[in-house]
Amino acid sequence: MEPTIFEKILSREIPANIIYEDGDTLAFLDIAPNNPGHTLIIPKVHSRNLLDITEDSWLAVMRTARKLAPIIKEAVGADGINIAMNNEPAAGQVVFHAHVHLIPRHEGDGFTHFPQGKYEDGEAEALAERIKARIAN
Ligand code: 5GP
Repeated sequence: MEPTIFEKILSREIPANIIYEDGDTLAFLDIAPNNPGHTLIIPKVHSRNLLDITEDSWLAVMRTARKLAPIIKEAVGADGINIAMNNEPAAGQVVFHAHVHLIPRHEGDGFTHFPQGKYEDGEAEALAERIKARIAN
């Protein structure tokens, strides 16, 4: 299978503004940032997204996110930071090598959050039971 653009960044086949690397992860600036400092963290071992990533790779990505978040926030003078991940096209994923976004946020930067919905009576309880039954299996 043709390597994704992020695997090409990992192998240095194409350039990126890499800010951090360790044995399991690589972090670089997003080419089209929501705000300056928008960073992508990828695992070195290929997975498509959260739905097939190994526990080890996921924990490594989270370790890097925790390490970099306060540093990036301070470096760009942000007021807050979002962590985000798009999994599958329906969720907005366009590059199919797992990656987590760290997005610096500023008071009044104008980004809105996803619209919030509402459950019908009993719907949330039934759904919670359905999910819990699957977790138990
Ligand atoms: P997704 O929607 O898959 O979660 O996000 C992919 C992200 O990768 C986008 O935010 C996009 O700007 C970024 N991106 C796509 N191609 C490149 C590239 O060649 N270099 C870098 N640094 N970022 C890229």
